[in-house]
Amino acid sequence: MSSGKINVSVENIFPLIKKFLYSDHEIFLRELISNATDATLKLKHLSSLGEAKGDIGEPMIEIKVDAKNKTLHIIDQGIGMTSDEVEKYINQVAFSGAEEFLEQYKDSAADSGIIGHFGLGFYSAFMVAEKVEIITKSFKGDASVRWVCDGSPEYTLEAAEKTDRGTEIILHIDEDSKEFLEENRITELLNKYNKFMPVPIKFGTKEETLPLAEDAAEDAKAETVTVDNIINNPSPAWTKQPTELAEEDYNGFYRELYPTQFEEPLFNIHLNVDYPFNLTGILYFPKLNNDLNLQKDKIQLYQNQVFVTDNVEGIVPEFLTLLRGVIDSPDIPLNVSRSYLQADGAVKKISNYITRKVGDKLNSLFKKDRAAFEEKWNDIKVVIEYGMLSEDKFYDKAAKFALYPTVNGDFFTIEELKEATKDLQTDKDDKLVILYASNVDEQHAYIEAAKEKGYQVILLDSPIVSHLIQKLESSNENISFARVDGDAIENLIKKEEATVSKLSDEEKEKLQPIIEAVVPKEKYTVQLEALSSTQLPFVLTQPEFMRRMKEMQQAGGNGMFGNFPEMFTLVVNTNHPLIEQILNTKTEKKRERLIQQTLDLARLSQNLLKGEELTKFIQRSVDLIK
Ligand code: ADP
Repeated sequence: MSSGKINVSVENIFPLIKKFLYSDHEIFLRELISNATDATLKLKHLSSLGEAKGDIGEPMIEIKVDAKNKTLHIIDQGIGMTSDEVEKYINQVAFSGAEEFLEQYKDSAADSGIIGHFGLGFYSAFMVAEKVEIITKSFKGDASVRWVCDGSPEYTLEAAEKTDRGTEIILHIDEDSKEFLEENRITELLNKYNKFMPVPIKFGTKEETLPLAEDAAEDAKAETVTVDNIINNPSPAWTKQPTELAEEDYNGFYRELYPTQFEEPLFNIHLNVDYPFNLTGILYFPKLNNDLNLQKDKIQLYQNQVFVTDNVEGIVPEFLTLLRGVIDSPDIPLNVSRSYLQADGAVKKISNYITRKVGDKLNSLFKKDRAAFEEKWNDIKVVIEYGMLSEDKFYDKAAKFALYPTVNGDFFTIEELKEATKDLQTDKDDKLVILYASNVDEQHAYIEAAKEKGYQVILLDSPIVSHLIQKLESSNENISFARVDGDAIENLIKKEEATVSKLSDEEKEKLQPIIEAVVPKEKYTVQLEALSSTQLPFVLTQPEFMRRMKEMQQAGGNGMFGNFPEMFTLVVNTNHPLIEQILNTKTEKKRERLIQQTLDLARLSQNLLKGEELTKFIQRSVDLIK
């Protein structure tokens, strides 16, 4: 029997790194700056423990492009490496020194924010460089060394002349990666991945105008000086405690995140947990406009202040992807498929936590200042209603603060709504009927009629209303929703002491066939009702269930109800003087015209009169009045 070690041949791995390591070649810069950041944070940590002697100053990282020599430089003032360390950490592919470091300093390093665990980090340099140099000098004081490798497994290691502590990585950029020698491209990458990294990053210089001294002469010219161009904010708002931040700081950070966004956010939610998982972040409720799709996916995911992605699908529940802001968590597994991510226990907990925090925040805003909450309702309702539909836990929370505005501008919670309607709006089975309008203009006549009866009409006008209603009905026993122009309102009217009909039974028997003879019966079911004389002579209603079916079908159902006939109930208001007139008109032609005109008026009030029929109606009306 023999035993041994499987040797991974570097020769075979290199081309793999080049091609497949990361689909996105641009992340090499993020990886190298992460290493430089780690080296700097390690030094600070050791210095705080007294293990690094002397004053370490204010270490920073510098990025330089040398287009002439086709090199890109990443320079840090961190711990550096001795010759032995280069052998150990660099020459053994994927040997994560960060992991070893963490192991060694397990207890004290937990807070130092070391990034590590990107694995092959350093070797990602070979995705864009044909040759890589490391010139490094350890904080321990050993002589500096230069390591050079051209992507083959052979490398050289020799003495170097570097005298100051830290590491310089020099990438000799490949012919096909020339874009990384352009300053604009590098600026773009730094802004995307490194904007909030914890060590200052310098890229070139910039001119700054000094403010004039107070006693400056009138003709004094403002002086400009050249200063380092620091591209990042090393301590972004989310890394601070909520108690350290005022409203203005949160808004300021929002502008930092979205410099082209001029609208202020409505409010924010500061996330901060360290058990059972680690997560910090700030989420903002933005003012949404109509194009919801364009506004999705603005939340940025970071790991220890390094940007990872702005696709948080699977980490944040779907309904919250309309929010903005930052989530920073080292506990979210990277480089795994989305479906794996969704099944991951830690990620599930994170998602639940975020949902809970959002619910709690909304609840506390509601309790603290209801008027302000009502004012914001229109801007936030899409998110809340969507959340109520998709997350049961959120639904339960939202029951306390979800609002139902009436057409009069009052706001009710569901419980308040039940209370406000319980006397007038119960049907014959004692079920509460909540009347709603989906469009105040189109349903104006019906709204007015309902108001006159003293009914509450709420306004539900978001795109997912029919689904929301279904959900509300199934979780609130004994209430049903009815659109104000639907047929359910008649159940209410019937339950009320019905208004006495002005027509006798005999007259009614005569009236029914007269009307049925004129209106097409495959479209209208004629029904005589004693409504108030202030209501229209003809009122069209549609069975609530049929309209909902149609709405759901429009919202993306299948073709099952494709040829669903459009059916209406034609309620004839027997108390309207015009109906009496119809009954008493002897000339058949004239009577028909009256019925047709009355029907068209009812259709017009429902926005159902279009095209040729509308033209004919207008012509007929002109004839009538001339
Ligand atoms: P990881 O960062 O995941 O540990 P890398 O392959 O990127 O893996 O780096 C391997 C090791 O090389 C690091 O853990 C660190 O010890 C060392 N190293 C890389 N870059 C630097 C640097 N700029 N300064 C000091 N040490 C470095």
